[in-house]
Amino acid sequence: MAKKSGVCAFCGRKASEVRLLIQGIDAEICDNCAEQAHLIVKEQFGERKQSQGFDPKGITLKKPAEIKRFLDQYVIGQDEAKRTLAVAVYNHYKRISQKVEADEVEIEKSNIILVGETGTGKTLLARTIAKMLNVPFAIADATVLTEAGYVGEDVENILVKLLQAADYDVAATERGIVFIDEIDKIARKSDNPSITRDVSGEGVQQAMLKLLEGSVVNVPPQGGRKHPEQKMIAVNTKDILFIAGGAFDGIERLIAARKRTNVIGYGAGGNEAIDKDNMLQYLSPADLKKYGLIPEIVGRLPVITHLNPLDKEALKRILTEPKNALVKQFQKLFAMDRINLVIQDEVLDFVVEKAIEFKVGARGLRSIMEAILNDAMFELPSDIKATELVVDRTYAEAKLEKSGLQKLHVGD
Ligand code: ADP
Repeated sequence: MAKKSGVCAFCGRKASEVRLLIQGIDAEICDNCAEQAHLIVKEQFGERKQSQGFDPKGITLKKPAEIKRFLDQYVIGQDEAKRTLAVAVYNHYKRISQKVEADEVEIEKSNIILVGETGTGKTLLARTIAKMLNVPFAIADATVLTEAGYVGEDVENILVKLLQAADYDVAATERGIVFIDEIDKIARKSDNPSITRDVSGEGVQQAMLKLLEGSVVNVPPQGGRKHPEQKMIAVNTKDILFIAGGAFDGIERLIAARKRTNVIGYGAGGNEAIDKDNMLQYLSPADLKKYGLIPEIVGRLPVITHLNPLDKEALKRILTEPKNALVKQFQKLFAMDRINLVIQDEVLDFVVEKAIEFKVGARGLRSIMEAILNDAMFELPSDIKATELVVDRTYAEAKLEKSGLQKLHVGD
């Protein structure tokens, strides 16, 4: 039975001195101290919760350095891209939160373009940003888009996905993030429009421009064009952040050519040492135009950054380091059957070697791991005596061989 002391156990005030005394098992707390305690808890945990969530009214946004640290938990390497992205995202949401007075400076939107080989983390970066902000996120594949009137998907369908991700909440949709994958695939084949009339690429780019520059777009809620009778939903794209990604195969040559011209053109540039192994670091809007993006699109993707190819060391870190690294995921799966999964370091090297050999990069790491562990994942749950699985290189080699996994079968 609870004892009543009639005083607050925290501040010692009597019942008569406070508005309320809340009874505990054998002590009491007054309203004042309870409020204090609540504040302390909020300070400890509330702040983190708030900044992870996205409140469109009073945005509590992490600073760029914090955004980068968040990205570091999920994405290995790519420091330059992370820093650029962190600043762009920070500015974007600052811009959304500003209340524009008539005479004030209006901050323009900064959509982003990420250039780098497939499987280097472009989608992962965009997805992780959306997760941090807790905003709706959608991935659109530029290759399926066509101009209105042609077979394929209308550009508007990009917004259908975002609307769906937001559970048809239009206000949330309008603050979401869209990742447009393979933007390089809608490039004009030549940067001289009079030589190649490659209308499809340019037409899609023109249609996409409407989304990027901010306009009210009528979106068919179910997507597609099959139901002309469906009611359209108006979505304003003004505050949607677009992150475009592409491999831009061969763009290094264009960058190199431009650098050479510059060297000849400006003399003084001749002293500049060019790191030929990493031409992407010199990427500029001019190269994207040369590659075949129309100038208007390039203008609407003002934040440009690149991702580096992943080397052996990076691939190995991807297996173990990120918050939801593959090895951790498998360990969790096994742990659910009370089995301790030990993967020896030499196995990680083996998996990385195979990913490189199969030319699948980070994207293929999962399939290789699945192939190695599949037998065990089939058998061990029924083996009541099993408590541990130690995977060494010999085991991994044998299982991969048995699985018959080859370059052609590895995919995402
Ligand atoms: P991209 O969009 O560049 O083609 P993704 O971001 O889709 O590549 O990467 C494919 C998968 O490979 C991701 O889901 C992730 O598991 C892994 N991955 C790729 N790059 C990285 C990285 N830098 N850090 C951690 N994981 C990565």
